[in-house]
Order: sequence, then structure tokens, then C-alpha cells
Amino acid sequence: MPEGDTIFRAAATLHRVLAGKEVTRFESVYPALTRVADDHPIVGRTIESVSARGKHLLIAFSGDLILRTHMRMNGSWHIYPTGGRWHRPAREMRVLVGTHDAVAVAFNVPVAELLTARALARHTQLRALGPDLLSDANGARGPRAETFDRPEAIRRLRARGPDAIGDALLKQRVVAGIGNVFKSEILFLAGIDPFTPVARLSDSALNRMVDIAREQLAANVMSASQTLSPAVGRRTTRSLDPREKLWVYGRGGRRCRRCGATIQSKKTGLDARLTYWCPTCQPLQAP
Ligand SMILES: [Zn+2]
Repeated sequence: MPEGDTIFRAAATLHRVLAGKEVTRFESVYPALTRVADDHPIVGRTIESVSARGKHLLIAFSGDLILRTHMRMNGSWHIYPTGGRWHRPAREMRVLVGTHDAVAVAFNVPVAELLTARALARHTQLRALGPDLLSDANGARGPRAETFDRPEAIRRLRARGPDAIGDALLKQRVVAGIGNVFKSEILFLAGIDPFTPVARLSDSALNRMVDIAREQLAANVMSASQTLSPAVGRRTTRSLDPREKLWVYGRGGRRCRRCGATIQSKKTGLDARLTYWCPTCQPLQAP
């Protein structure tokens, strides 16, 4: 699943290339989209902004029309110069927004709809999102300038008292932006066992974890190249060796980079995603 930093980076890149440009081409394989586009043509409108909210990517057109897409597990946005070769088969194209010099293509995006600003404000999925860990990130421009609501994030975490902290962190209704890779990495850096019930963690531990989550997501937005593909450039260690980018994620059975203990891994949740942790650096809190 794309993480918050991936969507944020995709939005920032699309914004840089598309904002202020006129739409010369709009296509979609989704009848619901093309029906709206027939009644309210997209071609001829100006792209005002591209932004991310949680894992939703929003493209705002002039004249009060917003394209919302959600990447889910396999979706991605690519941008190419007009006439450039795509890196994905055309049959995977779901939505296409073209300008005179560039074309933005959404591949395998399962959710796409056109909305007015008013409908977007009332959108239940967006309203339900927890505070966005990337809001107010250092260096964030335009798309994500709102203030991070820390008390609300802590309140929503607290409301998940009996849940394992690793599960709570992945819930976009609690805090928005963390996917499976960062979940394991953030809990390692915070020294928290992923299976600790939230209720057992102190306020200072939760606040420190939130700080680490914001630092890590922001650092990965800033340091990454302009690629829109997930996982490229993601790192949480400070090592310059590309083989040492992550502390625990994907390292089950290998030695902890910090203490030498064996990294553990376990499948959790309905989709059996793997959680990684170091049993020494991340001790389980006593009840
Ligand atoms: Zn360790």
C-alpha cells in the first residue's frame, strides 16, 4: 500500500508540472467519470492545484470541479512528456489528464470521482481521516499547509485503547499517512513493541512516537527524487549504504542493526501484512 509520503510526493510532483496549465485532454475508462465530464467538460479548464489528503490525491480544476483518486494497494500516478513512452501498459490506464506539454496517467487506480468543493467537504471518507502526519511538514508548500492537530491525533490514538499500537497506527481514521513499511520503522525508532495495547503507553511515549512519525514521513518527502513510484528512496536509517536503508522492515531473521538480536516478523490483520520488530530494542510494556 502506498504510504503517505508516496502520495504526498506524487501530489507535489503533479502540482509542480500541472498547476496553472490548461487541460487539453481528459480520458477515463470509468463511465461515471466520463458521464460527468460530458456534462461538465474538463478540457479547457485550468488545473489549480494537486494535493494529497491522507491517501487521497485531489486534482482541483477551475470552475469548482475536483478529481479525487485513491490508490488503494496497486494504483499509481505517473507523469510523462506529451508523446513520451509510458512505463505501464495502456490497458492499466484508468484516468488521464493531459496538458500541452505533459500527460498525467493514473494506472490501476480503483477509486476515481469528480466532485464539487462542497461535496468534497462533506465527503465521509475524507471527513473521517485522522490528523495528517504530513500537514505542516517542514518545507511543505501549497498543497499541505494546514497545521498538524496533535491533540486530536493523541485523542484518536487513546480511543483505540485495547488495540495493538501497530494496528492503530495503520488506521487512517486515527492518523493519516502511515503504511506498513513506516509502521514497523517508526515503532522501532520509538522503542515500542508493535503488539503493545495503546492503553499501556504513556502520553509521553505516544507524543514521542508521533514526533518520530512526522520526522520520518517529512524526511522521506524531502529527500526523495522526483519519482512517483513507491518505496524508491525510502529510508529511515542515516546510512548512506543503499542496502542499509531500513532498520527492521523486510529484515525478519536477520540481526538488528542496533543490538544484534534477531529481527522478528509476524503476519497480522485480515490482509496478513507483515510486522517486523526487534524484541530487545522494542520491549513489550508490562501491564
Ligand atoms: Zn535491536
